Amino acid sequence: MTAYTVHTVKNVASSAFLVTDENGAMIVDTGVAGRAPAMLQEIADAGLRPTDVKLILLTHYHADHSGSALALREATGAPIAIHRDDADQLRRGGRVDLQPTSLMPRLMKVMLDKAEIPATEPDIILDDEEDLTRHGGIGRSFVTPGHTPGSTCVLLPDGSILAGDALSGGLMRARTARKPMFATDLDTAARSMRTIADHAPTTVYVGHGGPLAAPSVAALKAL
Ligand SMILES: [Zn+2]
Ligand SMILES: [Zn+2]
Repeated sequence: MTAYTVHTVKNVASSAFLVTDENGAMIVDTGVAGRAPAMLQEIADAGLRPTDVKLILLTHYHADHSGSALALREATGAPIAIHRDDADQLRRGGRVDLQPTSLMPRLMKVMLDKAEIPATEPDIILDDEEDLTRHGGIGRSFVTPGHTPGSTCVLLPDGSILAGDALSGGLMRARTARKPMFATDLDTAARSMRTIADHAPTTVYVGHGGPLAAPSVAALKAL
């Protein structure tokens, strides 16, 4: 039985993740710009070298997830992967207009809108479903659009999911699953929430708050 470990690197605004198994490591999201040293420290603390990282997967293009991707590619030599429907925005970089789904994100939008996506040429364009081991990574990816057009989740072989911002943890109750704070298409985002719940994940790691408790994720099926 392979031992998978998910290490969480907490950033000011969002979490980044280092997933390790006996073959190496994969980074899922990178935090805002300037957070590469924190991830490299996590890699060292796990007893690994930067070159043990074989894949950098971005769940979506937002700056709080893609901000340190260039620096981490430089440090590890690993390719950057993103879904094809988020690839153009990542290449262009710059600011995106966030569409809040409720009051709290409307307040946060003022702060988040200022973050610029560093223009980043991805190395791997992900399809809707991919076996990530083909790209040196761990587990499988599946598209969960709505937060952004190409938002993508990672399903690990132990049944846990890294969901990016396709789901959100609460600010008050961090382990309770709720809808994303922003959505380019809320109906599609709701469908994607049910897709995640259908996998019956053991744990869901998200960009903000979390990790989400399995029962609160299962409850999303009833939406
Ligand atoms: Zn986001
Ligand atoms: Zn985010």
